[in-house]
Amino acid sequence: MAEATEHDENEHISPEAAFSLLGNETRIGIIRALWQADAHQVSFSKLRDHADVADSGQFNYHLGRLVGTFVKRKEGMYELTYAGRRIIGAILDGTYTKRTEIDPFGIGASCFACGSSLEASYEGDRFVVRCQDCEETFLRFAFPPGVLEGRDHDELAETAGYWMRAQLSFTVNGICPNCAGVISHSITTEPEHHDHEVGLEYDCERCKHHATSTVALHLSYHPAVIAFHDDHGIDLGEELWDSYLWSDDEHTTVLSADPWRISLTIMLADEALELVVDEDLNVVERHRT
Ligand SMILES: [Zn+2]
Ligand SMILES: [Zn+2]
Repeated sequence: MAEATEHDENEHISPEAAFSLLGNETRIGIIRALWQADAHQVSFSKLRDHADVADSGQFNYHLGRLVGTFVKRKEGMYELTYAGRRIIGAILDGTYTKRTEIDPFGIGASCFACGSSLEASYEGDRFVVRCQDCEETFLRFAFPPGVLEGRDHDELAETAGYWMRAQLSFTVNGICPNCAGVISHSITTEPEHHDHEVGLEYDCERCKHHATSTVALHLSYHPAVIAFHDDHGIDLGEELWDSYLWSDDEHTTVLSADPWRISLTIMLADEALELVVDEDLNVVERHRT
């Protein structure tokens, strides 16, 4: 049996060609078979058994089309490339195949504006957190539908918090969570969400991904802020929904708009941490009292 021939590994392939490769049941079956196989690398004959394709000529043809893009052949063994694993991830997380709604449920945290309970819901492909009374929307972000499977409401709220923080961590560090391009931030005096004095906007120069946040949220990744919370026994990831991060105005003061100097003060027990940032959001002063 002749084994599938390889493309040149360095060859570029157009998005149209790459995605059209996937428009075939046998090829998706081969990618699934590689994912479900017990071993990281699979021989030609084992892969054919797993993929369950009766016609060997057809199997060989379709496998050959995937090699070089979604499948790697090394010393006669086959494995998924990073692109192939991303396809499996996209199938499992449901981004392209599932749409779900979840009615609002309480997340055990209170609105900073009015003190009422915060509720979360899942609307199509977005996780939304809003106050049930004043209708302030705290957050709305894309969240893959596959996350909902096998998690109850509490686990879902916790997972959404970690997900949001992980995505924002990329953003804060200048990496687009959508396309891995360069993302830049700007300070705005007219935030799209909330009635704050200043807000932050992030824009990807490549895919046009757009996100907003607050000075407090941005600085919640700063080592001084993490250490300050840790010293008071607080893991921001775990107490996310109930944290001060959403009430920016009480904690953020604009000291100067030209040049930008914005102060963030966090009070925990009887201690205060103050950070002052410049227009690049670099910390230029810090005081702990
Ligand atoms: Zn409220
Ligand atoms: Zn991007």
